[in-house]
Amino acid sequence: MDADELSCIDRVVYFSGGQNPAQQISLRHMSDNTFSIVLYRPESDRPEDQTNPAGRMSQQVYRQRAEHDQVGRTPRTRRKTRGHQKPNHEVIANVDAISAPELVYPEAVYLHDGQTYIVRDLDMEGKVAYVQRRELDYYTQAVLDSRVDITRSLTTDERFPTAQLGFGEVDVAWKTIGFKKIKFETRENVVFGAVDLPAQSLPTTAFWLTPNHAVREQVKQAGGRIGEGLCGLRNLAVVALPLVAMCDSRDISGVVDSKNLGSSSLILYDRYPGGLGYCEKGFDQISTLLEICWQMVQQCDCEDGCPSCVGLPNLRPAIHSDPDLTRGYPIPDKQATIRLLQLLCENRVTDATRGSGPDHAFGTTMTKEK
Ligand SMILES: [Zn+2]
Repeated sequence: MDADELSCIDRVVYFSGGQNPAQQISLRHMSDNTFSIVLYRPESDRPEDQTNPAGRMSQQVYRQRAEHDQVGRTPRTRRKTRGHQKPNHEVIANVDAISAPELVYPEAVYLHDGQTYIVRDLDMEGKVAYVQRRELDYYTQAVLDSRVDITRSLTTDERFPTAQLGFGEVDVAWKTIGFKKIKFETRENVVFGAVDLPAQSLPTTAFWLTPNHAVREQVKQAGGRIGEGLCGLRNLAVVALPLVAMCDSRDISGVVDSKNLGSSSLILYDRYPGGLGYCEKGFDQISTLLEICWQMVQQCDCEDGCPSCVGLPNLRPAIHSDPDLTRGYPIPDKQATIRLLQLLCENRVTDATRGSGPDHAFGTTMTKEK
């Protein structure tokens, strides 16, 4: 925004430029680090080529080869064409770099303006995905493999006598290892394919919660497993944190991991480079966050857990794990999650007592439900 686009009237500054500055900000890619999605139209798709059916086959074979050569160029060559687009290249959209390997890997179906496009190539270095318009009766879903490493602990907290709480910097690494083709009409999984892309890395911020030995033992004595209890809590927290931090569920993600802190821990992180403060707010208001989780799990009428409470929310299943695959989680144990929440919140110091936010009488709710 330029200074001459601002007008000051009665000591209040108004924007007086032409276009609203907000229109220049795409909600689809907040980061500057984006991939262009380029529609590539081989000449065989042009109307003039429809006039000679006899010659079209040989021309198509020739042009498919030419197209393949085009797609197979070195990134340096293709970066040049990015700035000087040929008439048969058109940028139809952009996608942030974090989402690109999950959305526009080779053979992925990219949905845009109600049309289906197939991704022919993803140039990681040149940050371009080449797509072609195709009528398809399926969409694709990526299968991801991810890892979270705590790189620096910035602060720890004693609000929960039964768990270690921490906030700090983490490095999230993930890669797309495969994809599924799913039919639009029947949701039938028709093909599973492999994808070979380099791993992506996201330095961001996270908070973590590690139940102590006594809690783990008590969950076990109640017939549950701490890992399942934490998975249920993670799935609840991914839905509950937006209510505390005013974000979208897709802005955050979480894992249950025992490698970083020596025993099973919940790690919740921001899905943006450097973090946007969502998980920091969750850390500051952890009691409120757990209260919302508690209400969600208590108010759900299901017996053994469902996607409305401890199950995976149907937001970005691939980010967590795919229940259709052997590596995925089933619906976590609802009773283990409830027992874990009870044990965590006994004798805790509330957010209000700590002076960082409102308390919602979680203790009262817990006492009633016990
Ligand atoms: Zn439920």
